[in-house]
Amino acid sequence: MPRLPMGWSNRYTRLVAGLCLVALAVYLSASIPWSLAPAHPSPPSPTRADEYAAARQTLANRIRLRGVDEEVLMVLELVPRHEFVPEEYRNLAYEDRPLPIGYGQTISQPYIVGLMTEELGVKPGDKVLEIGTGSGYQAAILAAMGLEVYSLEIIPELARAADERLKRLGYQVTVKQGDGYLGWPEHAPYDAIIVTAAPDHVPRPLFEQLKVGGRLVIPVGPPGGYQTLWRFTKINEEEWEAHDLGGVAFVPMVHGK
Ligand code: SAH
Repeated sequence: MPRLPMGWSNRYTRLVAGLCLVALAVYLSASIPWSLAPAHPSPPSPTRADEYAAARQTLANRIRLRGVDEEVLMVLELVPRHEFVPEEYRNLAYEDRPLPIGYGQTISQPYIVGLMTEELGVKPGDKVLEIGTGSGYQAAILAAMGLEVYSLEIIPELARAADERLKRLGYQVTVKQGDGYLGWPEHAPYDAIIVTAAPDHVPRPLFEQLKVGGRLVIPVGPPGGYQTLWRFTKINEEEWEAHDLGGVAFVPMVHGK
């Protein structure tokens, strides 16, 4: 047998030994039983919630193009709107449009929810009154922004359903059946008030229950048609500054019987 030169032999031996070690390592790692492998939870099967998360992000991106604040968009991306619409409309939950919620009422269009939320000019910890709980979606958005939320709804069945839904989903909102024309004096004054049904004038109690410097965002106009969305800033106990935010179509704010 021809003798190999010493140097070659050494290099050859090292190469073979190296390859053996690599092969052993590959073999060992592949043969470790699952039970000994680090405990990674198995990836969740795609749930309906995940499907909706992508749709929610697409919707938030669309609303971003219309110029809504990033803080509000973050919350629009978090709150599961599909939980607030009736089962038969779930597939439309992330379209930028209002949807029926029963009793002749609607959940507002997400862009309008975003715009109104932004126009409240609030910061976490502020106290907000909402008139027109409806499905509870707008209230959930406000709660997710870190606000202390009180919400009034005139239709008892909607008030009860929204209260249950908000509790089930873990949003801290105090809901009461009542007439928004009177406001909710027990918790006044509020840093901001948002009205999601349209009266034909600004109810005086809402102005009175607002802090000086606070904002009232409210659609005002004739029932059944288009209204103007207003942002009123309370200057002092007698005056406010009005800012026209454009045309909107809300369900009417009805008078309690
Ligand atoms: N903010 C709601 C949408 C509300 S639709 C949501 O996110 O789903 C308007 C709601 O205002 C309806 O539910 C309607 O019943 C309620 N409403 C009408 N008049 C009212 C009044 N005077 N006081 C309180 N709620 C009223």
